[in-house]
Amino acid sequence: MATSDPHPDLTTTERNRLLRTTADARRLCWALNGPLSTSLRVMAEQFYNPDVLLEPYVRAGSQINDLYAGGFHPISQAPLTDSRIASATVSVDYLDRWEDEWVEMHSECWDGPEEDGQPDPESVRYGTVPGEEPEYEGFSGREHLLMCCGTDRPLNKAATLEVRAKGEFLTVHDFVSAVHPWLMGLREDILAAAGVLEKKPLPADSELMVYHPGPGSLMIVVGEEEWKRSMRKHLQHDRLAAMKPYQLFMPVGEGSGNVPVWGCTAAYADAA
Ligand SMILES: [Zn+2]
Repeated sequence: MATSDPHPDLTTTERNRLLRTTADARRLCWALNGPLSTSLRVMAEQFYNPDVLLEPYVRAGSQINDLYAGGFHPISQAPLTDSRIASATVSVDYLDRWEDEWVEMHSECWDGPEEDGQPDPESVRYGTVPGEEPEYEGFSGREHLLMCCGTDRPLNKAATLEVRAKGEFLTVHDFVSAVHPWLMGLREDILAAAGVLEKKPLPADSELMVYHPGPGSLMIVVGEEEWKRSMRKHLQHDRLAAMKPYQLFMPVGEGSGNVPVWGCTAAYADAA
């Protein structure tokens, strides 16, 4: 059967790294701040321009506008990725990195269980994390730091969601309507993780923005102004936009301006 996979000779991992969100999907201005109806807006193009008003993603009740078929902005029906996919798995960058960063951050608080002075059991606790290499060899039952400085080790916080197409391929709306409520449910954890990774506690009402809306590990930006700054058009955008996808092939985790490159999991959709 014909498929829209443009690189049949590559491995799944290699193909997924080449996946790019469509220009329509990149027009989303996506806040994690309440329901979809107030959190999503749409830019006129894939860059933030302070002189151009953002359009609502969900049609307001009184607004009569034929463009909003089904009540949503026309980009809602656009494919999420240039190569059409039937499903995609997403995770959150901050949550993926949270535990490692926490361990790193607290590794200098104590020399480990052999230290002469006893740690305060109210703020420091050791134990075991099944399936993990011990951080402290030879201390049975105390191989891992489970609590330090009064904060619990963020165990099992990395979360994934599989999003499936409702029709033939994954649309922007399939994606945001599944991922937005899932991210909202993780908001407290994302804030706590961002606080550890950014090395400053973040208030509960901090603005969170989804930076690259697509498959893979989602980048979240703290602060709408920060997001706007990073989404402003700059010269590099034109250069990157002119590149062919294979020219953007690079190791997972390396950013590339406004053109998202992910290590992600996606299943290609069969061509119509
Ligand atoms: Zn500590």
